[in-house]
Amino acid sequence: MKKITKILAIIMVLAMTACLFASCGKSASGTATEGVLVMATNASFPPYEYTEGDDFAGIDVEIAGLIAEELGLELKIEDVEFGSIIGGVQSGKFDMGMAGMTVTEERLKTVNFSDTYAKGVQSIIVKETSSFNSFDDFFEGEGDDKQVKNIKVGVQQDTTGDIYCSDTVENGGLGTDHVIQYKTGNDAVQALVAGKVDAVIIDNEPAKSYVAANKGLRILDTAYAEEDYAICISKDNPELLEEINSALSKLKSSGKVDEIISKYIAA
Ligand code: GLN
Repeated sequence: MKKITKILAIIMVLAMTACLFASCGKSASGTATEGVLVMATNASFPPYEYTEGDDFAGIDVEIAGLIAEELGLELKIEDVEFGSIIGGVQSGKFDMGMAGMTVTEERLKTVNFSDTYAKGVQSIIVKETSSFNSFDDFFEGEGDDKQVKNIKVGVQQDTTGDIYCSDTVENGGLGTDHVIQYKTGNDAVQALVAGKVDAVIIDNEPAKSYVAANKGLRILDTAYAEEDYAICISKDNPELLEEINSALSKLKSSGKVDEIISKYIAA
């Protein structure tokens, strides 16, 4: 009997030691891989994220680099479809999603968001020769007879531009029949250039970048509200949320965030 108690005690000590080592192996932030901060993004959203040769560049990429530095972690960027970012963050495949991502009530049901670090507005891009001058120009008729003209609008799938446009006319959208979803913002813009859609609805800064990079396009003013950009993090990792928020707050108060934003966006 005594022997069994001794063996049990040894097993317990061994198990406790193993636990200790296991928890030592985890980073303080509880990231999936020790020492690494995996950021999921969609690098077709200049000036927030885009590729330059084999490298990633942009506002989010630089801010994420400084956050990782503050946290003592190595930043690893995964370029995925915008619509897979939240699911991948929820499942723990990625530690955070940073992609000019707007904080919405719907998204807040599935992930946590950091404090906001930038703002966006939805813009409409049309061809220079287009007769459209506002979102209202997409409609004809009045009151009960009001309907969307025979037009198609290109959006990047799963983005707020897609969500607003795909909503019903009563809710301020155009209805799914008038929306064509593309995998990236660039694909939507190329469809506009090729005349496959009449307009593209996308966040204002990428809109400016796409108009600068493609001839014959212009931007219309819209009535859409301002959106807040933030980093999404799994609801299962509140430690990382806290650490990212304190890194962000340091980077904001030292002027680093503004410095990065003004490097990419002319005031
Ligand atoms: N701000 C938009 C959203 O969160 C678009 C983001 C993006 O295309 N990367 O839906």
